[in-house]
Amino acid sequence: MRCSPFNVAAPEEGSSKLRRLPLYIRPLPDEALFSWGWRLARRFEWNLSTLARDGWGVRDPLSPDWWARPAGELLSALEARTGEERTELRRMTLLDWAPVVRDDECSSRFAGWRFEAHPPEERERGLAVCTACLSGDRAPYLRRTWLIGWVAVCEAHGCALLTRCPECRRSLRVPRPGSNAPFVASRCARCSADLTQAESQCAPEEICRLHKILLTGKRTGQTELRGIGALAWPEVVTLFDVLVGAIWEEMTVTDRLAAIAQVVNDGCLYGRFRIDVSRDRLGSLMLLGWLLNDWPRNLESSQVAGVVRGWMRARTRRVSRKCSSPQPADEKGCLESQRTISTNFAEHWQSASSRDPQRGATDHATTG
Ligand SMILES: [Zn+2]
Ligand SMILES: [Zn+2]
Repeated sequence: MRCSPFNVAAPEEGSSKLRRLPLYIRPLPDEALFSWGWRLARRFEWNLSTLARDGWGVRDPLSPDWWARPAGELLSALEARTGEERTELRRMTLLDWAPVVRDDECSSRFAGWRFEAHPPEERERGLAVCTACLSGDRAPYLRRTWLIGWVAVCEAHGCALLTRCPECRRSLRVPRPGSNAPFVASRCARCSADLTQAESQCAPEEICRLHKILLTGKRTGQTELRGIGALAWPEVVTLFDVLVGAIWEEMTVTDRLAAIAQVVNDGCLYGRFRIDVSRDRLGSLMLLGWLLNDWPRNLESSQVAGVVRGWMRARTRRVSRKCSSPQPADEKGCLESQRTISTNFAEHWQSASSRDPQRGATDHATTG
């Protein structure tokens, strides 16, 4: 059996004498700790799991999210082992971003398939990359934002992120930390195709705008959605679960297809973009963009309106449980978010109705 490449034992808990690793590579702009670890592990001809466990002292290197929010003692160990400054290490994580709420960072989070009953182990950790960014990299690497499962657009290039391999056509996936296959960010982990050869596709402007608002919300914890107002990040996630859940969980198949057809027609989506609103990141944001556009005027004329109205009127409001994590705090936060959202819903609906007496009469008739 091969020895650890570091020739050191895993650092003991509380140990103040952690030895510096013999190799160092500089983190690249907006690089994820996950990606930096993989690049460093390759220099040792090892996988990320071994580097994390033996070199950095990560207790469970196979857990998918240790890199995103490392505990303070792990940051201290990383500082001692790598020689990298703590502020730089934090910059490679999501420690300063809004915490995970209702599993909001997982793959294709707002896509329809997430509202179906898939057990967690069947969910593959999908990856999306910007081919324009990778083409310009001297050493290809993964940006932090690409590892958040609903991020669909490159902020620098304004193009849709690539989620499928141009060769094998299968979805891109985040390499497992224990994989012995060499990891290169610009190549498909399944067939090694060069991802930079894929044609990049401009994202629609309205989706870039929504995407920017969402990324600000994830970074700062606060969003400002036109027509809805200021919402904290957990409220945004709950709002989206109500809207998208209305389509995928509350509607009959016939009504759902009619609603999606309306989205497609209104946005002329299939003429310009090849999207799948039930599965992919860009498609799910397009659906959300359509639901939120000109709120609540747009929604009122759609098939979704009745379901959302029903949600507002219900004594016990339901939000998809399939999308939440099993943490009790998540459920509590969700209940608090529901109260804020339903107040916001009612206020905006009422003010939109008072601007349009005809609709006010209709609204009164349906909500009375
Ligand atoms: Zn880019
Ligand atoms: Zn491939």
